[in-house]
Amino acid sequence: MGKPTGFKEFPRKNVPYRDPVERASDYLEIYTDPNEEHLRTQGARCMDCGVPFCQSTTGCPIDNLIPEWNHLIYQGRWQEALDRLHKTNNFPEFTGRVCPAPCEGACVLGITDPAVTIKNIENSIVDRGFAEGWVNAEPPTMRTGKTVAIVGSGPAGLAAAAQLNKAGHSVTVYERADRIGGLLMYGIPNMKLDKGIVERRLRLLQEEGVRFVTNADVGKTVNPKELMDNHDALLFATGATKPRNLEIPGRELTGVHFAMDFLTANTKSLLDSKLNDGNFISAEDKDVLVIGGGDTGTDCIATAIRHNCRSLVNFELLPKPGKSRAADNPWPQWPRIYRVDYGHGEAAAKWGDDPRQFSIASKEFIDDGNGQLAGVKTIEIDWQRDDRDQWQMNEIVGSERVWKADLILLAMGFLGPEQYATSMLDLEHDSRSNYQAAYGNYATNVPKVFAAGDCRRGQSLVVWAINEGRGVARTIDDFLMGKSNLPLSGQS
Ligand SMILES: Cc1cc2nc3c(=O)[nH]c(=O)nc-3n(C[C@H](O)[C@H](O)[C@H](O)COP(=O)(O)OP(=O)(O)OC[C@H]3O[C@@H](n4cnc5c(N)ncnc54)[C@H](O)[C@@H]3O)c2cc1C
Ligand code: SF4
Repeated sequence: MGKPTGFKEFPRKNVPYRDPVERASDYLEIYTDPNEEHLRTQGARCMDCGVPFCQSTTGCPIDNLIPEWNHLIYQGRWQEALDRLHKTNNFPEFTGRVCPAPCEGACVLGITDPAVTIKNIENSIVDRGFAEGWVNAEPPTMRTGKTVAIVGSGPAGLAAAAQLNKAGHSVTVYERADRIGGLLMYGIPNMKLDKGIVERRLRLLQEEGVRFVTNADVGKTVNPKELMDNHDALLFATGATKPRNLEIPGRELTGVHFAMDFLTANTKSLLDSKLNDGNFISAEDKDVLVIGGGDTGTDCIATAIRHNCRSLVNFELLPKPGKSRAADNPWPQWPRIYRVDYGHGEAAAKWGDDPRQFSIASKEFIDDGNGQLAGVKTIEIDWQRDDRDQWQMNEIVGSERVWKADLILLAMGFLGPEQYATSMLDLEHDSRSNYQAAYGNYATNVPKVFAAGDCRRGQSLVVWAINEGRGVARTIDDFLMGKSNLPLSGQS
């Protein structure tokens, strides 16, 4: 274990983000570099629990060997820690930056004290590994002669590609966008995950033998039947890309956009031209309203601030969570508590307040008379539990209000995958419109066609996409070879 008395001696200390005012004026990553002594001390806090809940079903979905690397960092054995990290996670530099860290929510130390800073330690191990030159391409020593086509290059498709390639299969990844990476590239903004970090890993995968085809829209420019006929297995990892709409009067007005249209165009323009080509939705000098919270809402807030918006408000339908766990949300569940994410911190630094308004519903977008958005009408919500202990949403009469806005971004989640490619193969869907395939099996109703990631489980997290990518790789390897030496991945 770390230091037997470490958890008593040292308080939790996160590696800080950059100053919010300074970082909000650029698109560089928000993180600062930790020093080694800081990380050793934080690693020393790990108790090496007999039952490490950080790795349990409520903890890390890819079974990261957390107590082992905490211990190794305390001892300064960085390269061994890196080896442990890569055993369970193909892309720790992505999860180390963007994962909400369910492992920390489940950490045993969290019962009485703040949890171990697992995520900071993970990120530092892999960053040091790259800096030291320890992370290199490891192409397979033999090829099986089997070919696999993967549609979609997000973390699920990439993790599957990495694992199947490792097993010796020849893998081609088809992506409809002009860059590889799915939401790692065009979704999560540069300040949270630098695109150079994504491209660094893609280069390694290419050196290992994975083939990438961009601008390949399967179901439109590439025929999925041909992919199926020309490969030994076909995997759909196309994500949950159908955005939830807000169908209230005025939805058609100019100035109301889906969050992903805003975020994707911004990153593309940033990468193509440092935002000089003007091919993005600008929030400059606008009163911006972001409807919906979560990671997508936060990323919209942070991006609009970097555009120099005039004002910014964020609506949340749900009530403001408490500062600590509610009685019906005990450890080791994910703590549903009030959190200040990077975008909220930047808004508070700029305007003095958290931009979120809780328990508020939008009723109508207002026209300025020329088809342009001028604002939104809202009503406040009173949340009460009914006789069956279910939350009920009641509008508060007389709480109507009008908010000025000339740019509204809808960040209300996603409704599952698009179906134009899979309908050509008669792939079945489940009741939530995801591709039908059991967890741990990943096989669809169509022989030799598999599904994994957000298109199978619904909108989720990068770490779950990696879990599914690793899991489906083992299933496909088994299907192709009659057995598999690839590791089992994670939990049900
Ligand atoms: C704005 C935003 C921020 C987020 N932030 C976080 C975060 O901070 N932390 C976190 O853990 N999770 C975050 N998430 C969630 C996370 O990004 C997803 O859960 C994860 O990327 C899902 O991975 P995936 O591989 O299943 O799909 P995706 O990453 O969605 O990739 C699917 C890919 O398939 C491609 N595709 C779709 N259809 C076709 C087709 N017919 N032909 C070819 N290609 C196709 C798409 O273009 C896309 O590139 C965020 C999500 C969003 C939207
Ligand atoms: S639960 Fe927390 S304290 Fe226990 S082994 Fe995991 S990280 Fe260490």
